[in-house]
Order: sequence, then structure tokens, then C-alpha cells
Amino acid sequence: MKVAVFSAKKYDRDGFSQWADSSLHFIYIDSRLTADSTRLAAGCHAVCVFVNDELNAAVLQQLSELGIEMVALRCAGFNNVDLNAAKALGIRVARVPAYSPEAVAEHTIGMMLCLNRKLHKAYNRVRDDNFALDGLLGFNLFGKTVGLIGTGRIGLATARILQGFGCRLLCHDIVANPAITELGGRYVGLDELYAQSDIISLHCPLTPDTKYLINQHSINAMKDGVMLINTSRGALLDSKAVINGLKSRKIGYLGLDVYEQEADLFFENLSEQVIDDDVFKRLLTFPNVLITGHQAFFTREALQEISQVTSDNLLAFASNTTTGNELVN
Ligand code: NAD
Repeated sequence: MKVAVFSAKKYDRDGFSQWADSSLHFIYIDSRLTADSTRLAAGCHAVCVFVNDELNAAVLQQLSELGIEMVALRCAGFNNVDLNAAKALGIRVARVPAYSPEAVAEHTIGMMLCLNRKLHKAYNRVRDDNFALDGLLGFNLFGKTVGLIGTGRIGLATARILQGFGCRLLCHDIVANPAITELGGRYVGLDELYAQSDIISLHCPLTPDTKYLINQHSINAMKDGVMLINTSRGALLDSKAVINGLKSRKIGYLGLDVYEQEADLFFENLSEQVIDDDVFKRLLTFPNVLITGHQAFFTREALQEISQVTSDNLLAFASNTTTGNELVN
């Protein structure tokens, strides 16, 4: 079966050549999937896509006209796919629901530690023979209250690590996860979570309900100097409100692995270009902001799982069976 792999990077090619079933014929396409690039999938039966590929109704319609019958997401989140349109067109959609929650959880904790202990600054200082400690003062994680919004696979993996640090866990989700309660985490309403948490970390999906969950109003309800971490999806927070929160010192630390307009930026080397996004560039001016370019998933173990499960999803489609990873059958 021929599969057009959009937004393909070297590590995708390496992963699929090493771990995917050899009966699948992957055609690697550097471009993102958008209305302007759908024609590159001509002659294929399926497309394989990542977080910033666009699968809105118009794109799906074009893909359907080209004979595409399946969308294989090589990620867990699916906010970029119009599932209703796919269903109406008879296009099957499958994802990799849990390739490595620990990969994202560990990056989340890495961001917390780096921001708190200012490791990014210490690294540069010591290389410059500057061993002064002024400006590097941190705080103990032990005994601090961490608010987790979203306690599915990644939220739980994050909670397990934080519990090891001796943190108090306040959690919020629309469905309680018993494993969180077993760990000692307590489910609370958002108001209590905002009012009490020293650190808030987002692990819920982007949906119409969660878009701009973090806005001026919710930021106002947080503790002064709060640490805010988003490794989930950019549009969970309103970046302009967050900039205001940083300017007013309400937000003491900000860690982002995702950004609402990241499709125009992330996964490419733009170091020789002028970046037009003033909001993004403003965020980068703050000394207490750490941004990584959607790399939380990026571990060897996760890439192996992604290529294997994507391969299984495609083979199941080819043999008219299912894997349980289907969002639209
Ligand atoms: P999951 O489905 O296991 O868990 C998500 C949790 O969020 C569920 O428990 C769900 O009930 C909860 N939720 C849904 N709506 C909510 C709401 N309105 N308020 C509070 N909680 C709500 O998903 P997961 O595997 O833990 O992944 C979470 C998110 O992480 C994904 O949706 C994706 O956006 C993001 N992600 C990011 C990376 C990265 O590299 N940065 C990698 C993988 C996933």
C-alpha cells in the first residue's frame, strides 16, 4: 500500500525504514499537508500526518477526490482533523494514542527544573567562566503544590514523577482517573487549583471547551509568581494574556513546548530568516520564559512506537480489520 508521509523529517524516514512493516511503501514529502499540497498524495491510498498538518473539511474533500481512504496520524492529539468531515467522506482516521506518555511527562518535568534552577543560564555562565550565583536562586519542589489540568496518560505519568519529588497534587479533569487518587492526588475545581498551585501544568487535549482555558481571567485567579507549563497544545492558552501576566509579574515562570501559531515556525531551521510573529518574539524576550519547539515527544522509544503503531494501523486498514486506534472507522 502506498502511503504519502507529509511533514516528513529524517527521523520519520529512519523510524519507518527500521520499524514499519516492509509491505508498506512510504513516499516522503517534506511539505506540510495543506490545501496547497494535497495533490502530492496522488496515487497513494493513505496519508500519514503529524501535529501541524491541516486536515480540515476542504483538505479532506480534496484527498477523497484523489482516492485517499485513510489518514494515519503519527501522533496522539487529533485537534487538526475534522473527524465529522472524514466520517462523511468515508475516510478512516487512526492515531497513535499512547506512544510514550513518559516522554512528554519527562520533558514537562525537565522544563520545570530548568526554569526553577535556571539551568539554561547556568550552562552559558559556566562556559564563560562566570561562576557567580546571583540570579540563579531557585526553590525546592519538595512540598510545593502542583496543579495538573488533564489527568489522562501524560497527566498521570507527570503526576507519578511529581509525587516522587514530594509535591502535593491538585488535579482537574472532566473524568477522574482512579490512579491519580491512588497516588494521593486530589481532584478539585479549577478555581481551587488556580488559587493554590505553585506550578500549573496542562495535559488536556485542545477542544472547543479547552481553547484559551488559560486567559486573562484564569491568570488573575492564579497565585502570584506561578509557574505555568504547557506541553499539550498551543491554543490552550491565550498568548497575549500570558504576555500580560508575565509583564505584571503574576506569572513567574513560563515553559512552552507548543505555541498556537507553531505551524509557521516549529520543526524548521529559521535561523537565517526574519520571523514576523511579534507575539512569539515578545515571549522570547522574557528572562523567565523557556520555549522548546514541540520536542516533548522526541525520544528514541517514542519514535519506535510511533512507526510500529502507525504501521499496524495502516496494515489493519489494508486487511479490513481494526486496531482499536481508530477515531473514524
Ligand atoms: P489522554 O486522552 O490520555 O488524556 C487527556 C485527558 O484530558 C483526559 O483524561 C481527558 O478527560 C482530559 N480532558 C478532556 N477535556 C478536558 C477539560 N475540558 N478539562 C480538563 N481535562 C480534560 O491524552 P494524553 O495522551 O495524556 O495527551 C494529552 C495531550 O498532550 C494531547 O491531547 C496532546 O495535545 C498533547 N501531546 C503533546 C505532545 C508533545 O510532544 N508536546 C505529545 C503528545 C501529546
